Amino acid sequence: MGQNSADAQKYLKEIALNKKMEYMGYSKVIMPCNYVVSEKAISKDEAIKIINDALPIITNLAVLIKNNQKFDEPKKEHFGKMYSSFINYGFNKYFKSSKNFKVSDSCIKCKKCIEVCPLNNISLVNNKITFSTNC
Ligand code: SF4
Repeated sequence: MGQNSADAQKYLKEIALNKKMEYMGYSKVIMPCNYVVSEKAISKDEAIKIINDALPIITNLAVLIKNNQKFDEPKKEHFGKMYSSFINYGFNKYFKSSKNFKVSDSCIKCKKCIEVCPLNNISLVNNKITFSTNC
């Protein structure tokens, strides 16, 4: 999750249930281009700084996963349900686009991204990885 996780807990629980996985919690980790669906990509230097800031958090989460421990979840967001309903609906409808999603020429069409995408947003069309508008 990024800065504002809105009502993410509810949706992550649903995804875990649908995939027959045990929900173990979630954590906020700000990563470069969390919102690449609506904004241009940031510079490489900015991205490296954000990743370096995130590394201790990710390392801690990896230890929890390795030890099969639940995450210490962030407090529920004020107005989380509101963000996850009509605000996100408007954002998704009018500001979000997958046009910034690309794969490089090094893509080997292994389809791993298709298998793991929780929102079924990726497919292989005419032998090319293609992004839909589900995320
Ligand atoms: S198919 Fe997806 S996961 Fe596999 S190489 Fe291409 S972009 Fe990466």
